[in-house]
Amino acid sequence: RMPEPQARPARSRLLVLAGPTAVGKGTVAAHIRAHHPELHLSVSATTRDPRPGEVDGEHYFFVDDAEFDRLIAEGELLEWATVHNRHRYGTPRGPIDRALADGKAVLLEIDLQGARQVREAEPSATLVFLLPPSWDELTARLVGRGTEDAEERARRLRTAKVELAAQGEFDFRVVNADVAEAAQQVVDLIQAPAR
Ligand code: 5GP
Repeated sequence: RMPEPQARPARSRLLVLAGPTAVGKGTVAAHIRAHHPELHLSVSATTRDPRPGEVDGEHYFFVDDAEFDRLIAEGELLEWATVHNRHRYGTPRGPIDRALADGKAVLLEIDLQGARQVREAEPSATLVFLLPPSWDELTARLVGRGTEDAEERARRLRTAKVELAAQGEFDFRVVNADVAEAAQQVVDLIQAPAR
């Protein structure tokens, strides 16, 4: 049976922001959160521990493995993935459906595996790939933020190399040289027709 048109009221207002580790996805998303209250930013569930300053329910929903298993089993996640071979991250479906039903645009900041799943589930979603100005800049940012040890940094840089190679799968590319400018470019893609 064909879905009723009103059952998916605003599919083209679903925007996925992905990109390699340490490219500044979180910073760009935080900038958008601060300046565009009209947009709904999805809050992911994760099994990793909070970093200093991270607030449960605001940056992530911090859950244990059993709770994450339950979210999967109950079909509550639009997508989920194990990121950097370590922790699980997933996008709760309910808040997104509600925001779209309210006529809001929705932004997901997720990894490449998640972006691919969203493309499968919602083919009209707009996929935006955030690029670093250069590879050296990406490495410098990861070291500079100081939140990962050397082994974790090496793991994330390996992932980043693979992820950068996938940028051709995305609808749009935005270079994150300046956070405010990159955020504005992303927002313009949300408000414009998807393609
Ligand atoms: P971090 O641990 O640095 O906050 O995030 C690590 C990675 O997980 C980032 O690439 C981020 O985009 C990704 N991520 C965050 N939330 C989700 C999610 O809900 N689903 C997926 N697939 N990836 C996510």
